[in-house]
Amino acid sequence: RMQRLRARLARSGALGQALLGVLSRDHLSEADWEELEDTLLLADIGLEPATELLDTLRTRVKVLGSTEAGPLREMLREELVALVNPEMDRSLADAPVTGEDGVPHPATVLVVGVNGTGKTTTVAKISRVLVAEQKKVVLGAADTFRAAAADQLATWGSRIGVEVIRSEKEGADPASVAFDAVRAGREQGSDVVLVDTAGRLQNKAGLMDELGKIKRVMSRTAPVSEVLLVLDATTGQNGMRQAKVFAEAVDITGIVLTKLDGTAKGGIVVAVQRELGVPVKFVGLGEGPDDLAPFVPAEFVDALLS
Ligand code: GDP
Repeated sequence: RMQRLRARLARSGALGQALLGVLSRDHLSEADWEELEDTLLLADIGLEPATELLDTLRTRVKVLGSTEAGPLREMLREELVALVNPEMDRSLADAPVTGEDGVPHPATVLVVGVNGTGKTTTVAKISRVLVAEQKKVVLGAADTFRAAAADQLATWGSRIGVEVIRSEKEGADPASVAFDAVRAGREQGSDVVLVDTAGRLQNKAGLMDELGKIKRVMSRTAPVSEVLLVLDATTGQNGMRQAKVFAEAVDITGIVLTKLDGTAKGGIVVAVQRELGVPVKFVGLGEGPDDLAPFVPAEFVDALLS
C-alpha cells in the first residue's frame, strides 16, 4: 500500500492541494474519503490522527449538508489547526534562572538528535535569533567524537559572533565540554548556553548514559532549561523511531523539525507532537543561518493549504 501511496505522492504535489482537490468535488464518495485518508498518511500525519480528522470532517460535512468548496476548506483548516495543538507552549527558555545558590545562571539548552539531522546548523540558527534579540550566548561543542563537528560549530560561532567552548582533544569527555560551556556562560553573565551533542545512536543504553551524564554535569548548579530534539522532517517513520529512542533516553522539552523546505511531509508535526507529548518549537527551512522559523500552528496549516 505504501508503494502505491508513494507513487501517488510523486504525482499529487503538496498536501494541501491534494486535500483541497478531493474536497472540492461536488459529491464526496467513499473512494474520495479513502483518497483523503491516503493523502494524510502520505504526509506522515499518522494513522490515528488521520482517522480522527476524517471522522470529524465527515460529521461536519453531514451537518453542513453540502460539499461546497469554501466551507469545506475552512473546516479542514480548523481541524488541521486543532490537530497541531495550538495551546502548547512553544517559547524557548532564553532568560537567566536563579540557581540553588541564589544567583542567576544562564538558561541552558541541550540540543540532541541523530547526526545529519541538522543539529549543528540549528544551534547556529537559534543563536542567531537570540543574538538579534540582544541576548548574550555561549555555545558548547560537546560533539567531541568528530573534530569536524566542533570545527563546524566554531565556524558558525565566528560568523554569528558568539563564543564557542570546545575541547582541543578529539574524544574528550563531552560532559566536561558541556560543563565548561555552562561555566563560561555563568562567568560572562550570558543569557543562554546552547550545547551541541554527538548523535551517535549506537544503542539506547549508551545514549542514555551519555546524555544523562551531560545533563547531570550541566545541572550541577541549576537545572537544564531545555532539551531540544532535532528531527529531519524528510525521514518519516524512521525519524519517528529515532524520536522515541531519544525521548526514552532524556526528557525532551521541545522539537525542532528541520528540512521542511524540501518536503511535502509536514504532517510529521502532528505525529511527533502526539507521540512525544512535547511541542514543535521551531522549523528549519533551509541551510542558511536565517532559515529558522518559530512554529506557529495557524501559519503552518495555511502554508500547508496554500
Ligand atoms: P548534524 O550532524 O545533526 O549537526 O547536522 P548539520 O547541522 O551538520 O546538518 C546536516 C546537513 O543538513 C547540512 O548540509 C545542513 O546544511 C543541512 N540542513 C540543516 N538544516 C536544514 C534545513 O532546515 N533545510 C535544509 N534544506 N537543509 C538543512
